[in-house]
Amino acid sequence: MDRRSFGSTLAKGVLGTTLLSALPLTACNTSKAKKKLGIALVGLGTYSRQELAPSLEQTKHCYLAGIVTGSPDKAEKWSKKYAIPKENIYNYDNFDTIAANDSIDIVYVVLPNAMHADFCIRAAKAGKHVICEKPMAVSVLECDAIIEACKNAQVKLGVGYRLHSEPYTKEVKRLVKESTYGQVQYVSADAAYLSTRNPKQWRLNKALSGGGALMNMGVYAIQSAIYGSGMNPIAVTAQEYSTRPEYFKDTDETITAQFQFPNGIVGNIMTSHNANVNRLYVSCKEGWFELNPANNYGPLSGRTSDGRKIKFPHERQQKLQMDDFSKHILYDAPNLAPGAMGKRDLIIIEAIYKSIQEGGQQIALNLGDMGLG
Ligand code: NAD
Repeated sequence: MDRRSFGSTLAKGVLGTTLLSALPLTACNTSKAKKKLGIALVGLGTYSRQELAPSLEQTKHCYLAGIVTGSPDKAEKWSKKYAIPKENIYNYDNFDTIAANDSIDIVYVVLPNAMHADFCIRAAKAGKHVICEKPMAVSVLECDAIIEACKNAQVKLGVGYRLHSEPYTKEVKRLVKESTYGQVQYVSADAAYLSTRNPKQWRLNKALSGGGALMNMGVYAIQSAIYGSGMNPIAVTAQEYSTRPEYFKDTDETITAQFQFPNGIVGNIMTSHNANVNRLYVSCKEGWFELNPANNYGPLSGRTSDGRKIKFPHERQQKLQMDDFSKHILYDAPNLAPGAMGKRDLIIIEAIYKSIQEGGQQIALNLGDMGLG
């Protein structure tokens, strides 16, 4: 699919084209017999180039086996650089023929957000396990369609939430779970960066991104607030601000939201495309802890109210994440960021946008334990 035909797919509706045309199922049943799984990256942009491909040179349980790209130039460059055989190189049009390629076990979708659902569903129908970048999709409806497609094809589904595999985030979860500083009373999570140099980027184009800062960095603030409290919110209120409406024409610049958790516990999140902040602070009955930075590629950094530094050796987060997902397939290890977690975050995102639309009204959420992990 080239950019022009992608436009027409959007017009027809991603769900319409992908759900109605069921391809024959080819369950990825060869994966378990292998020691190392082959990953194909779909979309060779910045994240694939700077983070995923270099990480796949360090992974123990998977490796870069294939690529899917609309650009013949990139195909040639990557093929040379990573010794990718010609038969493992696909474009957006012939992508579905990947079903016949046994050296590809996992398809990792690293495209603009509005293209995730289409390619994840096509990957599942091709019998491949799926990693979908964050945000999982641009609506809850699309998340449901991805989850359903993976279930029908009996393939595993993970979201590219790399932090669940890295030690600082695991330490936060441990401190919360073990109530090391007592019960959590308040959590504050900010995830923002300056995105003010390129007005033409897809992240500022709602048709491709699904939304602005909230869709992009907001998922980190939402996730931090949830693992920082150990709970899903039961209600949310939200506000939107802009200092530069002529630049952020189509998508949100800055959003703040308040989460109400069970037992009257409260959380504040902030996300922006026009500020630099990257922090998680958790206040408990008998102390506090924080990560700052909390969600970049690391090394992260943390400290606690009793003067302890939270410090771990640095490893590429994406290496840990892709190895964890591969272990889930190979050895039934836990899926640290399953589709239900990605869907839960879209439910929260939709509630935040709804609250803003309704002038800051409180929106109730009924998430139970969905996606907690
Ligand atoms: P990017 O713009 O650098 O790359 C996007 C890729 O998609 C490019 O190769 C581009 O050619 C291709 N593409 C195909 N059709 C396109 C179209 N119609 N418009 C624009 N590009 C098109 O983006 P990126 O930073 O690599 O982000 C890709 C995905 O990865 C996004 O969903 C993003 O949220 C996610 N991401 C996740 C992390 C993380 O830490 N988990 C970090 C960065 C990006």
